[in-house]
Amino acid sequence: MIKAIKVRIIPNDEQIRKLWMSAGTARFIYNWTLSRQEENYALKGTSKNGGKFISNNDLRKEITQLKKVEQFKWLNDVSNNVAKQAVKDACDAYARFFKGLANKPKFKSRKKSKPSFYNDNVKLKVKKNEVLIEKVGWLRTTEQIPMDTKLSNPRIGFDGKYWYISVGIEQECPIVKLNDESIGIDVGIKDLAICSNGMTFKNINKTKRVKKLKKTLKRMQRQCSRKYEKNKKGKEFVKTKNIKKLEKKIKLLHRKLANIRSNYSHQTTNEIVKTKPSRVVMETLNIKGMMKNKHLAKAIQEQCLYEFKRQLKYKCEFYGINFIEADMWYPSSKTCSECGHKKVKLKLSERTYVCEECGIRVDRDLNAAINLSRYKLAV
Ligand SMILES: [Zn+2]
Repeated sequence: MIKAIKVRIIPNDEQIRKLWMSAGTARFIYNWTLSRQEENYALKGTSKNGGKFISNNDLRKEITQLKKVEQFKWLNDVSNNVAKQAVKDACDAYARFFKGLANKPKFKSRKKSKPSFYNDNVKLKVKKNEVLIEKVGWLRTTEQIPMDTKLSNPRIGFDGKYWYISVGIEQECPIVKLNDESIGIDVGIKDLAICSNGMTFKNINKTKRVKKLKKTLKRMQRQCSRKYEKNKKGKEFVKTKNIKKLEKKIKLLHRKLANIRSNYSHQTTNEIVKTKPSRVVMETLNIKGMMKNKHLAKAIQEQCLYEFKRQLKYKCEFYGINFIEADMWYPSSKTCSECGHKKVKLKLSERTYVCEECGIRVDRDLNAAINLSRYKLAV
């Protein structure tokens, strides 16, 4: 099984400059590829190739030509593989859109997108607490990257504070003796997860610590937009030194919140797989549908349910636990977990499930979790 690891790298000033150059090139080529695809798509029906998907290969040939033009000579300053992979990433994203599997890919903005680029895995060299990044040089790492295993898909990125390298490593799955429990998990906004075995994981966004950070973030954002208003020259917004400072602080706060949420997700999913069940059942997430509710959209986004599910899924795989997604129409909430009676209607506001058949009163989410745990089990 491939496990992704993320290790901090410590570049010197010259290396920092080169890292930014590589990330900038990756972003430029990614956007260039998208716009080439879009331009061509717009020519639908007007020429022989119009409207068709341009292949990865053809675009790479175009880039080879582009590099010879004076204006784009700077593309030669970074590794060839950075551009190669950026073309592929953009083509893959566009192909998914073409096939109707995803929304139209967005251009990466300098301000909002995460700076990152690819390093060819054959060219990646590792020695004691150091890693070689093409055309950047040997960089110190804070942890040892495994030396005796195959490394895959190395990506270098900046998270607003530090540079990291993330890379996939081959890992053997341990042989774990599982018990015969099937755990159903109901996820939501009130709590992150309620498990059929009684384990409950609260919503991290409702804790004092996160609430306080969010409050600070909001205050800074307001301060920032006030400063923009104040320094407006005519219709133009001017970015002062103070604004830049404040924006950096805002970025770091976003980073901190993201880290807290991700750590919490790891902690909860670890605790679930540590009970060694043989089966874990989760409902199919319909986030797109859930996000339609404007009042809940932000709370859902902050809950990072996809990330929770992604982590739980690969951790189950790792331990040999059967991970199952119940189909969207499985009535986990409406069914009574005691007698099997099915309600016709259940309002979102009904936090306690009261069965009109057997009279049981049970927490709504726990009831759903118990039903999920029994999903498609032979009676
Ligand atoms: Zn009942």
